[in-house]
Amino acid sequence: MSAQLQAIQADITTLTVDAIVNAANPSLLGGGGVSGAILRAGGAELIEACRRLGSCDSGDAKLTPGYRLPARYVVHTVGPVWHGGQQQEAELLASCYRRALEVAAKAGARSLAFPSISTGIFGYPFEQAAVIAVDTVRATLPAFPTLESVVFCCFSSADLQVYTRLLEARD
Ligand code: ADP
Repeated sequence: MSAQLQAIQADITTLTVDAIVNAANPSLLGGGGVSGAILRAGGAELIEACRRLGSCDSGDAKLTPGYRLPARYVVHTVGPVWHGGQQQEAELLASCYRRALEVAAKAGARSLAFPSISTGIFGYPFEQAAVIAVDTVRATLPAFPTLESVVFCCFSSADLQVYTRLLEARD
């Protein structure tokens, strides 16, 4: 694989990459978690751009500029709410990663950072979600050769350990 995959521990709103992914709510205006942090850091124009987009389905992704963020773009995706695993949660989560890569590549992004979609308020078990994140990005990246770097941005050191182990497993 040509693109570089790595995991880091950081606040995703501080990253200087071409695009960051927002784990949004369907309204695109959710106030908590990573979404709240991204909207606050992007400022009023980002919130207004989300309002104009309207809504987003679970598993889909939509693009806005980053406005006051260091990242040029934000790819807003809506992860599944965890209901026990029998309601297509895994398929929807994988779709978020695929669609986010597609939307970012189409915008010309060369570097992209993901938070761990659905693993906060939406309740997806962290390790299961991380396996889907890593496997889906690995499988999808070859279709987007202009994406040179993908970062899994972990909020805690425990989360970082999970991703580090998964990335080392097949490197
Ligand atoms: P969801 O509603 O999709 O579950 P959350 O925002 O509640 O989204 O959580 C998704 C993940 O983002 C969680 O693992 C959480 O720890 C992490 N997170 C929260 N704030 C930040 C941030 N500023 N930067 C990176 N990750 C964050």
